[in-house]
Amino acid sequence: MELSALSSRELAELMNELGQPAFRAKQIFEWIHKKSASSFEDMTNVPNKLKEALEEKGYTFVVPKIVEVQESKLDGTKKYLFALSDHQVVESVLMKYKHGNSVCISSQVGCKMGCRFCASTLDGWLRNLEHYEMLEQVYQIQKESGERVSNVVVMGTGEPLDNYENLLLFIRGLSSEEGFHISQRNITVSTCGLVPKIYQLAEEELQITLALSLHASSQEEREKLMPIAKTYEIHQVLDACRHYFARTGRRISFEYSLVAGVNDSIEDANRLKNLIGDMNCHVNLIPVNPIKERNYKQPNRENILSFQNKLENYGINVTIRREMGRDIDGACGQLRKKYMER
Ligand code: SF4
Repeated sequence: MELSALSSRELAELMNELGQPAFRAKQIFEWIHKKSASSFEDMTNVPNKLKEALEEKGYTFVVPKIVEVQESKLDGTKKYLFALSDHQVVESVLMKYKHGNSVCISSQVGCKMGCRFCASTLDGWLRNLEHYEMLEQVYQIQKESGERVSNVVVMGTGEPLDNYENLLLFIRGLSSEEGFHISQRNITVSTCGLVPKIYQLAEEELQITLALSLHASSQEEREKLMPIAKTYEIHQVLDACRHYFARTGRRISFEYSLVAGVNDSIEDANRLKNLIGDMNCHVNLIPVNPIKERNYKQPNRENILSFQNKLENYGINVTIRREMGRDIDGACGQLRKKYMER
């Protein structure tokens, strides 16, 4: 059993069982969730006898290990490759912005969703990440970089809503006062559009931002880019987003990867306005990151700007996502894929 899987209450119960004073639970919990300990040895104020007793009872404390770091010379973005206890690897990214440091984490090993523009899904899905494996990506990046992490996006490999229970434990753990204590408003969860889960999430009383990977302006176009669109049609996904906003008051963020000649025309912008023009939302335009397995190209700068202008003229909030770490393996899933191939 992993020690970091335990809640503070469960840890207190365990200490009680072992005849330990209550403050030991607090100490251990803080080592894991506030001080980014990476081994029992780091817990310097915890007696060796107690560490041995925990090990005898079958408790382990093994955090994902950083096996590779790539740092961008252009903007300081860092990509991390983590090896998990079963030797699977996942990647995470640290991005530095003026308003703070943001970490993008993975929620699954591989992904089964099959989005055409994404390198993470090329080798399929292997397993869900446990909630503590998600938390540790944030903790260990903060420790390695020495930079306080203020925003977290669950937008790396995997479909977070396909790993729902772990996602909820992750969000509640990361935002808890006794733990890492990041405001839920600084946590963004991205989904390709698992409609029933969006409705479920709307009832969890969370303050997180939901980012919907839209990427197309029509059902037909979306089906070509995202197989999930065949299960949940575009209007169903958008209705779920409207419901999410109505229940939580949290503005939806729409992710739209711009692919040259595929979804970047002015007609696309017009259709997009018809789809979401009535919503309190924000559109994030992402010039697609080319991956060698697919022949997708970024539109030229002029087309990107005219797409943005068109939406802005309709009164829609739009930003163009700044490309981070262009000189390292930028697209999600590429670093892991290269490592696996080696
Ligand atoms: S974009 Fe997200 S949901 Fe789609 S295949 Fe990639 S990781 Fe999975």
